[in-house]
Amino acid sequence: MKIGVLDIQGSVEEHLESLKKLAKSGMKIEPVLVKTPETLAQVSGLIIPGGESTTIGKLLRRFGLRDLIIERAKKGMAVWGTCAGAILLAKKIIGKQQADSLELMDIAVERNAYGRQLDSFETQLEFDLGSVGRAYAGPGIPGVFIRAPKIVSVGEGVKILAQHKGEIVAARQKNLLVTNFHPELSESLEVHKYFAEMCSEKI
Ligand code: GLN
Repeated sequence: MKIGVLDIQGSVEEHLESLKKLAKSGMKIEPVLVKTPETLAQVSGLIIPGGESTTIGKLLRRFGLRDLIIERAKKGMAVWGTCAGAILLAKKIIGKQQADSLELMDIAVERNAYGRQLDSFETQLEFDLGSVGRAYAGPGIPGVFIRAPKIVSVGEGVKILAQHKGEIVAARQKNLLVTNFHPELSESLEVHKYFAEMCSEKI
């Protein structure tokens, strides 16, 4: 099963490394970089990394990937947006700072909403990993936040997977996953494993 990392901008290499580690640990996945419609067609799931949502959104159009991602996601391809990627999955972006979202997931986000003091921080999170989580009896997973958006509200079909100080930091709607933090910037592979399981599910 191929899992793609959108290779446009942002923490691409870090996601690729995490997936490679997961493959090495015995999970039957093949990580690939996705920059063309041809490579997109081959993957069972796609990670949209963190970076700058404005830039990634624009380039998605230029690379001819935008409509194809929307089409495949609507047919059930698993998509995980981290940080800027989460902004690009949101149906609604609140506030002045907008981005060219794919409008797939029933969440509203606000860009750069943690304010200056909390711009970037690291914490431990309790993440509801479902059956996948039972394999990990750890104390929590590291949450690295970098100029993160806030997930301001979620629709009825959206499951909240993790919260931090009352704010939603991870959520899932069927084949779509968002985290406004960066699991690829920590040693923990739990969220990547969770996503790999999502890629093999038939929705
Ligand atoms: N601040 C960025 C944006 O609004 C997201 C930051 C990130 O992905 N780490 O697009």
